[in-house]
Amino acid sequence: MTRLQKSILEVVKRSEAHLSVKEIYALVQSDFPTVAMGTIYRNLNQFAEDRLIRRVSGLGSADLFEGNLAIHNHSQCLSCGKVTDVHILGLKEFIQEQIGDETVSLDLLVNVICSDCMKKDSNFLKGTKDGK
Ligand SMILES: [Zn+2]
Ligand SMILES: [Zn+2]
Repeated sequence: MTRLQKSILEVVKRSEAHLSVKEIYALVQSDFPTVAMGTIYRNLNQFAEDRLIRRVSGLGSADLFEGNLAIHNHSQCLSCGKVTDVHILGLKEFIQEQIGDETVSLDLLVNVICSDCMKKDSNFLKGTKDGK
């Protein structure tokens, strides 16, 4: 593994967040100013394929990458796009029961309005922005 590849992997592993390619690019750039976005993207894809990191496919947003490989699912705020880890006990067993077939893995994305956005705009769910 090259120094650049190590650096890309480090950035994702060290972060508690779910990072977009652009965010990872910005972080890696501080050590490798001349690195190309395509190089970052190619390496992230390879790392995800090798299961060194996890790719989270968002709804309507670009793919995100995270270093947390423990089994968990995600919620995404429809307003700000923030992605949060969610842990639902017994979810896999529940789904397997419903489906009947052997459930190997699942990738659940729950759409939410996060508490920050609810505070910012309490009218969000009413579909009106007039009541300010
Ligand atoms: Zn939000
Ligand atoms: Zn996650």
